[in-house]
Amino acid sequence: MIKLSRPQKPAILTRNEQAWLKSLMDAIQKYGSFKEIPKDEKNKLTSHYRHDEIKAALFPSSFNKCAFCEGKPQENGNIEVEHFLPKSIYPSETFSWENFLPSCRKCNDSKLAHDTGVEPIINPYDDEPDEHFRYCDILIKPVKDDQKAQKTISVLSLNSARLMKPRAEILISLHSFSSALEEAIQDLESADSERKRMHKTRKLIESIEIMEQLTETHKAYSGYCKSYLNSCAPFLAAKEIISTLHNL
Ligand SMILES: [Zn+2]
Repeated sequence: MIKLSRPQKPAILTRNEQAWLKSLMDAIQKYGSFKEIPKDEKNKLTSHYRHDEIKAALFPSSFNKCAFCEGKPQENGNIEVEHFLPKSIYPSETFSWENFLPSCRKCNDSKLAHDTGVEPIINPYDDEPDEHFRYCDILIKPVKDDQKAQKTISVLSLNSARLMKPRAEILISLHSFSSALEEAIQDLESADSERKRMHKTRKLIESIEIMEQLTETHKAYSGYCKSYLNSCAPFLAAKEIISTLHNL
């Protein structure tokens, strides 16, 4: 999970949210509760939140990834407009822009109607995930005994096989990049001519760039990669070497 910035509310929502909500609230009054509204009628009344203009305004804010697990649609199912506070419990939030979040089908299914109003989970638009989560090997864990992070991990099943598997694949690549970087550092240290030193320095910079590309926000699981690099000794050493050379 990475920190996201909530985008501007799209015009279609500003224009229509009150009317859409009024129709829904009228139906709740007519049938007695949100649950009692007949399925087809409920679907018709609520479906506006899935309007293409709403998706077009919301999805780029998470780089077209799931805001929770950072999975891409091809791996974890379509990205959907998720209600942070479930609309079945908080129908008045059905068309609230601040309540929308792009989520993959799998996170959405895991979260179901979990009552975030009673037991809050991390919202990457409002919370800084780095302050709540850390990674240990291929597992995501709470920082210290952060209860909100713990609840988020369990509600969204963030340590299920569907997420541990891609983390494991990334980890293999990162380990291999890290070993290559160690060798590149040794090669640079043993270079015995200026020409060799320049060549090895270029190689080192290229290796750093390849690893840093994995942390770009539009890449799947970029938060996981960033966390790995933040404690990857050869990567940090290589960065230090390059920064020293630039300052010479
Ligand atoms: Zn997800």
